[in-house]
Amino acid sequence: MSTSQAISSIDKNLGIACSPISVPERLLLGPGPSNSHPNVLKALALQPVGHLDPFYIKLMAEVQDLLRYTWQTNNRLTLPMSGTGSAAMEATIANIVEPGDKVLVAIKGYFGNRLSDMASRYKAEVHTIEKQWGEAFSLEELENGLKKYKPDVLALVHAETSTGVCQPMEGIGELCRQYNCLLIVDTVTSLGGVPLYIDDWKIDLAYSCSQKGLSCPPGLGPFTMNIRAEEKLLNRKDKVPNWYLDVSLLNKYWGSDRVYHHTAPVNMNFGIREALRLLLEEGLEASWDRHRSNAEILWQGLEELGMKMHVKPEIRLATLTTVQIPDGIDSKAFASHLLNHHGIEIGGGLGTLGGKVWRIGLMGYNSRIENVEKILDVFKTDLSKFKL
Ligand SMILES: *Cc1c(COP(=O)(O)O)cnc(C)c1O
Repeated sequence: MSTSQAISSIDKNLGIACSPISVPERLLLGPGPSNSHPNVLKALALQPVGHLDPFYIKLMAEVQDLLRYTWQTNNRLTLPMSGTGSAAMEATIANIVEPGDKVLVAIKGYFGNRLSDMASRYKAEVHTIEKQWGEAFSLEELENGLKKYKPDVLALVHAETSTGVCQPMEGIGELCRQYNCLLIVDTVTSLGGVPLYIDDWKIDLAYSCSQKGLSCPPGLGPFTMNIRAEEKLLNRKDKVPNWYLDVSLLNKYWGSDRVYHHTAPVNMNFGIREALRLLLEEGLEASWDRHRSNAEILWQGLEELGMKMHVKPEIRLATLTTVQIPDGIDSKAFASHLLNHHGIEIGGGLGTLGGKVWRIGLMGYNSRIENVEKILDVFKTDLSKFKL
């Protein structure tokens, strides 16, 4: 039987939407995503293989080993979650927080608030301690929080992308052991770009993303947990209340059993394998040094143009710089101009820093001297045209 009904094209713009995709060239110097390394893009463009193909199973183990190196950890449970950094963030909370657990979140920016929101959704008793956006916690302040709230879990952000602060980590892991609580650390904007030692710093759970320091597109959320965290997971009274992110199920696929859980985004894993391989080839310390020295050139260049950094040098983050918007400058118009006339993306301020700072990222593949020179040149020649 044939139907006489005509197929509707839904709307008349469909013809335009159906022309082959063409993406404008952008230099992504904002808070993420960052540009991907060309070799990573080549890896992503390969034909997929089956998610239980012996080739792929070998590749999974390589990704895990490369992640362990990049994170400086021996944790057995180290794997990329299928999802962005927020999925891996949620995985840390979902797997170890049980209803009624006390979770202390040390908030010093936007992403600390997200952690606290997530913990409350998993029915934790959430307590918070807070710092101004642009500051870091001292060990003493964290210890006071642990004394006061006696939490089961302390969660904090290492590299706070909303403020440009890098939280000093020395001693925090020891404190958590002393007060018998687990430590969750957000390493989304630090992995690959700034010194980070999961095992030495006694971090119990950590997560990250593919699109910031790792030179890959968004789509994977590296996750790691140690034996202390595994024990808490094992002793749960109820199942992990999130099926997709349940590490005990995921480990049946990533561990030796290879039991199907969900179809792995195989091409994303091709991409991250290549990204992590490039990082190994460069060397982790060389990558940290490169991020640091390019950031220092950026800071010095901006200061020479009379601009001020929002964060003091001791806790300033190499992967993400917050620079104060000079008085009398139309910050949004300048950012739009950068994008529309130079193809360069930078970020505006979030939350309490809205309208006060720009956020300039030099992450992964984009942390290169030619990019620093390019952005400094545009600030030098064009900023004065945006007086209010
Ligand atoms: C980007 C970011 C996230 C969220 O990651 P998504 O990949 O955007 O989901 C979490 N924490 C920090 C510190 C970030 O910068």
